[in-house]
Amino acid sequence: MCRYRTGFRFGEGKALAVVRPGTVSEQWKALEACIAASVIVITQASNTGLTDGSTPDGNNYDRDIVIVSTSRMKKVYVIEQGKQVICLPGATLDQLEHVLKPLGRERHSVIGFSRIGASVFGGVCNNSGGARLQLGPAYTQMAVFTQVGAAGKLHLVNHLGIRLGDTPEDVLRRLDRGEFPEADIQPDAGAESDRNYVTHVREIDTHTPARFNADPRRLYETSGSAGKLVVFAVRLDTFPIEQDAKVFYIGTNRPEELTDIRRHALHVFTHLPISGEYLHRDAFDIAEKHGKDTFLTIHYLDTSRLPASFALKNRFDSFFDRLGFLPSNFTDRVMQAMSGLFPSHLPPLMKEYRNKYERHLLLKVPAEGAPETKAFLEGYFAKASGGHFECSDEEGNKAFLHRFAAAGAAVRYGGTTRRTHCVLVCSVAHP
Ligand SMILES: Cc1cc2nc3c(=O)[nH]c(=O)nc-3n(C[C@H](O)[C@H](O)[C@H](O)COP(=O)(O)OP(=O)(O)OC[C@H]3O[C@@H](n4cnc5c(N)ncnc54)[C@H](O)[C@@H]3O)c2cc1C
Repeated sequence: MCRYRTGFRFGEGKALAVVRPGTVSEQWKALEACIAASVIVITQASNTGLTDGSTPDGNNYDRDIVIVSTSRMKKVYVIEQGKQVICLPGATLDQLEHVLKPLGRERHSVIGFSRIGASVFGGVCNNSGGARLQLGPAYTQMAVFTQVGAAGKLHLVNHLGIRLGDTPEDVLRRLDRGEFPEADIQPDAGAESDRNYVTHVREIDTHTPARFNADPRRLYETSGSAGKLVVFAVRLDTFPIEQDAKVFYIGTNRPEELTDIRRHALHVFTHLPISGEYLHRDAFDIAEKHGKDTFLTIHYLDTSRLPASFALKNRFDSFFDRLGFLPSNFTDRVMQAMSGLFPSHLPPLMKEYRNKYERHLLLKVPAEGAPETKAFLEGYFAKASGGHFECSDEEGNKAFLHRFAAAGAAVRYGGTTRRTHCVLVCSVAHP
C-alpha cells in the first residue's frame, strides 16, 4: 500500500486498507461499508497534491483509515457540443486534453502536474491553479457528491444540472454508463468555471491578492472541499485552444521592475496575459541540476506515456524502499546521475540571462496581445536596468518546462522544505 499511503511531496501514515473501486456505484458501496465500520475515509485521486490531503499524515488518528483510490474510474463524457465535459473521479487532465484536442478545445487547467497524471478532481477539490490569468483556479458549482448527514448516513447530492434519477443507485448507474439524453441536460444550471476571475485579477489595488488558498469566493460544495466530501462527477467548461501564444523572457536584478511589469500587464494591457511565472536564480540553478531528468523525461517522452512512466517509477521506489539497504530516493538519484550524461538542456539565451540577472519572469501572452507586450517591454527596458527577449516556440516551451521542473527539484534538493518551494517560485496572479 506504500504508494497510496505516501504523498508525492508531503504526508505519510498508516492505513487499514486501500480500496480501488472500478465504478462510481462500487465507490458508493465502499463508502457505505466504511461509514458502517466507522473508519476515516481519505479519498485519493492521482496523489500528486501539495497539501498532504491525499494520504494519512502521521499516525495520530483516533480511528482506522481507509484510503479510497479513484484512479480506475477514468471516464470523460463530452456534452454541449464539446463546450462542456462531465468527468468521473479518476479522469486525468492529460486524458482530458486528448479527448478535447480533436474538438479544437482545451481544458481549464494546464498545470505542470497534468504531465504526470494529476486528476481533474484533485484540481477542483484543491481549487488548484490560478496561474492562468484569464481562467483562475479550478472551480465548478456542478457536481454529484455525497456527505455524511447528522444521523451518520450518506446523503447523495445531484447538482450536475442533469436529471439522473431519484435514488443514489440510479444516479450512479447512469453516471457509470454515461446515459445523459440531451433533454435531461439543463444548459445554464450554474457556473462550470470561475467566470469572474478575468475581471477580479485586474483589480491590482485591492487589499487582498487575487488568488489565495481557501478563498471563500471559490469554496462551493465540491470546489475547494479538499477531501471533506466525496465527489462522484463534475461538470466543467472547456475553452477554445489558444493558438500562437508568445512567451517573453524577462530578467532583472531589481524586483520592483517586475512589480511594474506585473501591474502594467494586469491593469493596462488590452489582452490579459495567459500566465506569468517567476523564477529566482537559485531556483534556476537547483532546477538545472536537480530537475534535469524531469525536464528531459517530459521533453522527450510522448506525454501520453508520462503518467504510466511516473507510476512505474513509484513502483520501483516502493520496491527499493522495501529492500531497506539502498539510500532513500534511489530512483531519483539514479535518474539524476544519468541526466548528468546528457548535454546542457537549456537554451543559450536563458543561460545568459541566468548569469546576468537574479530574477526572472516568464510572461506568456495570447497572439493578439504580443504586439502590445513587445512595445511595452521595449519602452520599459529602454530606461530600466533589466532586459527581455521574445522566445522562439522551442525556447518558450523549454522556459516553462524548466519552471515546472523547479518545483520538484527544490523538494528533491531541500528534502521537504515547503519554504524553499514557496519562496523561489511563484506566479504573477499570486505573488
Ligand atoms: C492552491 C494550489 C494551487 C496549485 N497550483 C498548481 C499549479 O499551478 N500547477 C501545478 O502543476 N500544480 C498545482 N497545484 C498542485 C495540483 O493541484 C495537484 O498536484 C493536483 O491537482 C492534485 O491532483 P491529484 O489527482 O493528484 O489529486 P490528489 O492529490 O489525489 O487529491 C487532492 C485532494 O483532492 C481530494 N480528492 C480527490 N479526489 C476526490 C474525490 N473523488 N472526492 C473528494 N475529494 C477528492 C483529495 O482528498 C485531496 O484532498 C496546486 C495545488 C494547490 C493546493
